[in-house]
Formats: sequence, structure tokens, C-alpha cells
Amino acid sequence: MMGQMMTMPLLISSLLKHAARHAGDTEIVSKRVEGDLHRYNWREAELRARKLAQALARLGCGPGDRIATLAWNGYRHLEIYYGVSGSELVCHTINPRLFPEQIAWIANDAQDSALCFDLNFLPLVEKLASAMPSIKHYVLMTGRSHMPAQTSLAGLLCYEDLVEAEDGQYQWPEFDEQTASSICYTSGTTGNPKGAVYSHRSSVLHAMGAALPDALDCSARDVVMPVVPMFHVNAWGLPYSCAIVGCKMVMPGPHMDGKSLYELFEGEGVTFSAGVPTIWLGLLSYVKTNGLKFSSFKRTVIGGSACPPAMMATLIDEYGVDVIHAWGMTEMSPLGTASKLNAAQLKLPKDEQRRLLSKQGRAVYGVDMAVIDDEGQTLPWDGLSAGNLVVRGPWVISQYFGHAESPLITVDGEPGWFPTGDVATIDAYGFMQITDRSKDVIKSGGEWISSIDLENIAMAHPAVFEAAVIACAHPKWDERPLLVVVKKPNAELTREQLLEFFEGRIAKWQIPDDVVFVAELPHTATGKLQKLKLREQFKAHRLA
Ligand code: ADP
Repeated sequence: MMGQMMTMPLLISSLLKHAARHAGDTEIVSKRVEGDLHRYNWREAELRARKLAQALARLGCGPGDRIATLAWNGYRHLEIYYGVSGSELVCHTINPRLFPEQIAWIANDAQDSALCFDLNFLPLVEKLASAMPSIKHYVLMTGRSHMPAQTSLAGLLCYEDLVEAEDGQYQWPEFDEQTASSICYTSGTTGNPKGAVYSHRSSVLHAMGAALPDALDCSARDVVMPVVPMFHVNAWGLPYSCAIVGCKMVMPGPHMDGKSLYELFEGEGVTFSAGVPTIWLGLLSYVKTNGLKFSSFKRTVIGGSACPPAMMATLIDEYGVDVIHAWGMTEMSPLGTASKLNAAQLKLPKDEQRRLLSKQGRAVYGVDMAVIDDEGQTLPWDGLSAGNLVVRGPWVISQYFGHAESPLITVDGEPGWFPTGDVATIDAYGFMQITDRSKDVIKSGGEWISSIDLENIAMAHPAVFEAAVIACAHPKWDERPLLVVVKKPNAELTREQLLEFFEGRIAKWQIPDDVVFVAELPHTATGKLQKLKLREQFKAHRLA
């Protein structure tokens, strides 16, 4: 017997239609590249997204065409998300922090046919245009008054002109929910970037799953500011989850320094935000130096790389901001787990609660996970057995764009699992903890040492601003940990003092062999520690 409910495809346009109809007056505030604040609401956003869809059709863009963006978080980018995907085109957000050659490589791989970009990327795009032959239309995301008097980009279009020329008499089309909606490339931390193609169905399911209370916990009572960029795995799906709940959205544009963020938090009453740990380092340092407090900020999602427990403690204990530690990846749209306690865990002693919260958390509905050994057999959920983390679910990729071979593997004889490349444990509560990326783990005399554990301890030292641990070649043990540290401004700290700090906090044999102080650590285009580069930099380092 079949169910007898309406068949409505899960389409991205339905999210925006819902927000416009049921939260139409709710504000969307953007700090523009131009420097000022722009305000409008979900109703206007939906109308302008429809006009954009009309404009793209007028330019000759048709179903399946890839429309790329090089843009910060802002209302025009939001309109592109919806106007492009909603009209059956594919939205391809490119990370502008990548090397220029990588940007061109990605645009060619995706065969983008148009590129929409923010004002400050004009010189970059002018330089790259000849290397991106598939792009037929260049659209500058600004108004007429900011259009350049001269440019080498032939036929450069003005976003506002395109939108304003349309009448909005456009109906969002209905089509198969399995149609591609967007494409994101992995940042290539561990190889050439590869495209993950999301579908309308996967994006809508992910947006619903991510909005749940035990995931990112979005609601109509929130003022949400995604600091995580819209070019980093669709800002973790927040532009979609926010439409589902119809909340006020605040977007910081390129202004992500501590002062600018703090002013937006306070000025707009932001209650909830999301970003990688490095962003919060900057914000917290600004707030502390100036003796400030947050008046509305209640919780934040931290992910993308491990949130050091010391940062979690500062946010919770000093500023009253709850931290949701979350884990995911481009190939997973990105959300996989979030650290939220259940009713029984809330009765545990406080330090036990904190220990659980500092893990990457429980699987969100829609994601199944396991840790396996090298033979593909599952390991017990005992919080100790570390193995390769594998996942499956309706918003996990089944293959990479343009790669015929399947990345999926067999687990306990069952095919269809995606190997994440992360090494993790899962405890009896189902809380997953990343111990490392398989490429970053330190293999010392046949035993594994977690670089993240060591970094977390170093970060808890009051004189440490940022820390990275990498494997260093060792004649006897193959590899030993080397700790590379940036001190806080004017802090006094010696190698010996820092090594002493590890004693009693971790097994003796896991304590780093050496410490190097540096002025700055290298980061990837998504703000993560660039360990590959660090390993190269310290290849010749002799352990003391
Ligand atoms: P890339 O894989 O190219 O760096 P992603 O943004 O997709 O780009 O990164 C996903 C990876 O980031 C994960 O596989 C994991 O290694 C790391 N990661 C994400 N969130 C966390 C977290 N909360 N703790 C530790 N590592 C994390």
C-alpha cells in the first residue's frame, strides 16, 4: 500500500518562498563591501531573487549551467544562492582566499558559465579572466555608481542594473528534487580540490536537520550571524536553515576582524553565530583587550577544525556564550555531528559534561557513522578505540564531480560508506571525538599520538595564542611531536616552562619533544592550520 500524501519535490526555492510568506518582515542586515549597512527583509529578498532568475534567463543561462561566485556574506550573495538554484541553475561558490591559479582551475573544472563577484575582487577577476574561457558573463555585485570607469572585462555587467531591469513576474519552476543545486570544492588541504555536487533534496534535508535543537538549534527568536563564509560549504547551510525558521540574519561581508564583528553583534542584537576557531581567537582577543562584554550573544557553533577546550571555557565561563562544537566536511554538506547533551547527561558532574561538550558530538539525524580499522571492521564505541571515521546519509556525496570512480568503501561487509579521512573515537554515549586527520596523526614507535590533544593542552596555557603540533622525523621512533607556538603579545614563556605544563596532563611518552616559537602560523583558505606547509617548513628541524 502506498502513502497518499501530496508529492512536492524538496526544492531550495521552497525555503525562500516560506520565509517570504511567513517571515516576510523579518530583517536581513548586511555590512557591505562598500562599507555601509544594508537592510531589507525576506519578502524583498525573495522578490529580488526572482528578478535575478529572470535576468539570468535573459542572459541565456539555462538548466544545469554553473553560475560561480567570488563573494563575501551579504544579501546579494544570498539572492544568488536562491535565484540561481531556484531557477534550476547550479550555484558554485568559489573561495576567494585560494591561490589565483587554484580559482581558475576550479572554475575550469566546473565549467562555470558566469561569475558574480564582489567589488574588491575586480582586480583578481581581471587578472584571471583569460584563464577561465568557459565564463561568458561577468557580473559585478554592486550598483551603477560603483561600476569601474575602465576595466579589461569585456561587457562587464552591473548586478543592480540586471535586477532592476526585471519585473519579478516569475514563478519558481518545479523540477526533480534530485537536480543539482550547488557545487562546492574541497579546499584541497590534502590534494587537488574536488567538487561536491549537492542536490535540492540533499540541501533541503540538510537545512532541516541542521536547524534542529540538537544540531545548530536555529529558531525564529534568534538573530543569526554566519561568520563562516558563504563560500565555505554554504556557510554550513545557515542561509537555508535561517529561511526555514524565518529568523533575522546578519552578514558581516569582508569585515571579520574582532572590532567589526563585535560592533555588529552589539548593534544588531546577534544571539547566535558560527565560525572556525581562528575567527573567535580574533574576536575574543579584541573583547578582552577592551574589557567588553556581550549583551545579546548567547551561543555559537564552532567547527571546521577542533575547538580547543580553553576557548570553549573562555566563551562559556567568562562571556556566558554556549558553545556547540560541530564537525563536518564539504563532502557532507557539511554537518555530521554536534555536541549537545541529552537529559541524562545534564545530570552528570559539571566537569564530565564539559568533557563531553568538548568532543565533536553526536550524529545528527540523517548521518550514520562508524569508526573502522584498516580491514574495514567496525571498532567498539568505547571512547578509546581510534579508527578511520566513515559516514553515510542522504546529504553525503556518493561521488566527486567529474570523477567516475566511487570514493565509497565497504564496512563490515556492507558497501556504501564514505571514508572521511579523519581518525576518531566514539564513546558509549555516541559522542564522536576527532583525534586527528589521518595525514596529521603522529606515529611514534607504532603508537598513535593525537596532534589535536597536544594542541588543546598548549592552548590552555595562558601565554599561548595559537599552537600547532606536527610530526617530525625521528631516527628511533619514526616520528615525534613538535610543538609550534605563537605567544600572546608581550607574554613570557620558555620552551621548558611549556613542556613542563604538559606533565600530568597527558602520558609522558606523548609530550612533545621540542617547542619552536614563531610569529605566525600558516592557515588554509578556510582558516585552518596548514600542517602540510608547517611540516615542510620544519622538515629539517632536529629534535632536541
Ligand atoms: P578540507 O577537507 O578541504 O579541509 P573541509 O572544510 O571540508 O575542507 O574540511 C573538513 C575537515 O575539517 C574534516 O574532515 C575534519 O578533518 C576537519 N574538521 C571539521 N570540523 C572539525 C572539528 N570540529 N574538529 C576537528 N576537525 C574538524
